[in-house]
Amino acid sequence: MTEKKPDFATLAVHAGSSPDPVTGARVTPIYQTTSYVFDDADHAAQLFNLQTFGNIYTRLTNPTTAVLEERIATLEGGRAGVACASGHAAQLIAFHALMEEGDEFIASTRLYGGSITQFGQTFAKMGWKVIWADPDDPENFRRAMTDRVKAVFIEGLANPGGVVTDIEAIADIAHEHHVPLIVDNTLATPYLCNPLQWGADIVIHSATKFIGGHGNSMGGIIIDGGRFDWSADDRYPTLSAPNPSYHGLRFHETFGDFGFAMACRALGLRDLGPALSPFNAFLILTGSETLPLRMEKHCANALKVAEFLRQDERVAWVSYAGLTDSPYYGLAQKYLPRGAGSIFTFGLKGGYEAGTELVARVNLFSHLANIGDVRSLIIHPASTTHRQLSEEQQIAAGAGPDVIRLSIGIEGADDLIADLDQAMG
Ligand SMILES: *Cc1c(COP(=O)(O)O)cnc(C)c1O
Repeated sequence: MTEKKPDFATLAVHAGSSPDPVTGARVTPIYQTTSYVFDDADHAAQLFNLQTFGNIYTRLTNPTTAVLEERIATLEGGRAGVACASGHAAQLIAFHALMEEGDEFIASTRLYGGSITQFGQTFAKMGWKVIWADPDDPENFRRAMTDRVKAVFIEGLANPGGVVTDIEAIADIAHEHHVPLIVDNTLATPYLCNPLQWGADIVIHSATKFIGGHGNSMGGIIIDGGRFDWSADDRYPTLSAPNPSYHGLRFHETFGDFGFAMACRALGLRDLGPALSPFNAFLILTGSETLPLRMEKHCANALKVAEFLRQDERVAWVSYAGLTDSPYYGLAQKYLPRGAGSIFTFGLKGGYEAGTELVARVNLFSHLANIGDVRSLIIHPASTTHRQLSEEQQIAAGAGPDVIRLSIGIEGADDLIADLDQAMG
């Protein structure tokens, strides 16, 4: 008899965790410690040389955080995970392992506003150049390829909402040019989509959002898919060349299919420093246990609210990939068969002004800059999250002046609809 792979819901509760061997504690304890006692001088030397696995200092590893890393890596079908202090920290650490000064990467124009700013401005200061591509036509990624491109970055289900990217087509183009595809899977979560299954090489999450799920902790995670050949040529020296800070160790050669994750940890976390706090790892782990239940409710509620808005005469348009008339419905059926997520946008006929009035009048929805909370959230991106962008960039990112973004929570759908109904005036 072949063993059946456990159900997602089973893995969400159990993957990575087991009763504490010392105390019997069933729930993973918070190892609120910065450092760990060495057995002896030899043990310490082996740890520092990466010759044995173990804990040195919480900037590198922590037992609570390690459970979260293993759990999300398992849910994504990946080889290893590296947790970071936030989603943005995870992006920084991942690119740090791939990019040298003067290198380039191609990124989708349909990204979280903060990522557009991070890539376009702050990464530029490190000599990492972003080339933007509109993902509606995957061929744009082929046209944008240069010899210096080291990675392609997309969101599968894209913020601020309603857009689904053709992961498989873009993965094929990236691989033809021997570069890895990185997918930010924050909006879909591993419950709705596993990008590694569609050819992605690296997955990134802002665990601040649905994985934690309760709007109480910042966190990020990088998942190493384990399949990319970093040593095929000399374009990824951080991974393939001898590393002077580890006596000439080569990360890919030494650690094989988790060499990228090891470089993220042993170089990126070590030297840039954005480690996840063990307390946040604990809260995010607790959240992860109910991820499948929450995502079912998030998606069901979102569809009901989107259907209500679509038939309302005060509404100009609704962009939700779960609606049959969405241009992304076909891609959603392929990549998100369990539901099109709970973040989407719509516009009121009254435009910018009606939008800001709506945001002022809601009671149950909270007006704030977050997504993926059990509570329903509302925002006007053009005046907040996407404010740093030019109007052209705002429109390209799906965050034009009339756009309202909703992150539908797990409350009763009828109460959410009633709140929007009264607030639209
Ligand atoms: C929030 C978010 C990020 C950034 O994550 P932080 O945890 O806020 O640093 C990146 N990508 C997407 C899609 C996000 O929603």
